[in-house]
Amino acid sequence: MLRNETRSVHVGDLTIGGNDHVVIQSMCNTKTKNVEATVKQILELEEVGCELIRVAIFDQEDALAIREIKKQIHIPMVADIHFDYRLALTAIESGIDKIRINPGNIGSIEHTRAVVEACKARHIPIRIGVNGGSLEREILKKYGKPTAEGMVESAMNHVKILEDLDFHDIVISLKSSNTLLTIKAYELAAKTFPYPLHIGVTEAGTALGGTIKSAFGLGTLMYEGIGNTIRVSLSDDPVKEIQVAKILLKEEGLLGGVPTLVSCPTCGRIQYNMLPIANELEPWLQANVHEDITVAIMGCAVNGPGEARNADIGIAGGVGEGLLIKGGEIIRKIPEDQLVSELKKEILKLVEERKHK
Ligand code: SF4
Repeated sequence: MLRNETRSVHVGDLTIGGNDHVVIQSMCNTKTKNVEATVKQILELEEVGCELIRVAIFDQEDALAIREIKKQIHIPMVADIHFDYRLALTAIESGIDKIRINPGNIGSIEHTRAVVEACKARHIPIRIGVNGGSLEREILKKYGKPTAEGMVESAMNHVKILEDLDFHDIVISLKSSNTLLTIKAYELAAKTFPYPLHIGVTEAGTALGGTIKSAFGLGTLMYEGIGNTIRVSLSDDPVKEIQVAKILLKEEGLLGGVPTLVSCPTCGRIQYNMLPIANELEPWLQANVHEDITVAIMGCAVNGPGEARNADIGIAGGVGEGLLIKGGEIIRKIPEDQLVSELKKEILKLVEERKHK
């Protein structure tokens, strides 16, 4: 799949834009000044595949905490700042890797210049984050409501401030909770700006609605080659945001090393209590397996073995037991109460076998 050409910016040891790698990011929901809780959450997110983490900087204590947090984590960090340029300066001094701030919203040009000079000195990029829900009054007056054109114009105004200060390490986001508006805004932005795009549907909702809106919005954009870093936004544990992002990127053909779970919807032919098994296996696979393997959990021995044969490993349920199928062959029968534990062991064994091939 061809990616839209953009400039590239460097965030710690990551590159955003300019290549095919779509960077997966999330945001902590801890108080940043609570270093212990924030580090704990970031380490959990790293474990499931988060590559870049954003934290909210509400006051100086938050900005100062960055230094201690960075000592204990392994991925680059973004400071999310609204309005107060002094928080940006402290975050930069504390070693932040990227800041999210809208230069048009931080007061005088001298404040912006101070932030831009500090970023230039340390090669720190700035993300301009336009939100359809908080467009400037003049833009809303001009367009009558949040529109793609209005969002891009808002971003343009912020970009111009940075470009006039000869600053070009810019990432842009144009989020809305309206998925169609989000798609249109990013499509227009991709034609308008040379800068990499952080894509996301904001305030997308809970795990169900948010996953669907993100899959539609971000999936459409990435299929069009648009988007250099992705944030799935869910009213839930940020670990789920990473899991959804990884599956989405895998299905787009943009990420390897992610397992696929194939499981049937069940029907009247079901022979065992399959749904808890599939629901336990999916997060376990995401957390423990970093290989492109396909695992099938099928409900019955009628259609199940056929489907499971196309997977690397799987089970097809029978009465009080399941058939273990590996590489297209039925290997053995497993009693129902041992299905989950035995399947996990077999999956890990398969991963090990592949490593030594
Ligand atoms: Fe029904 Fe069996 Fe197909 Fe599952 S695999 S949907 S239980 S026929």
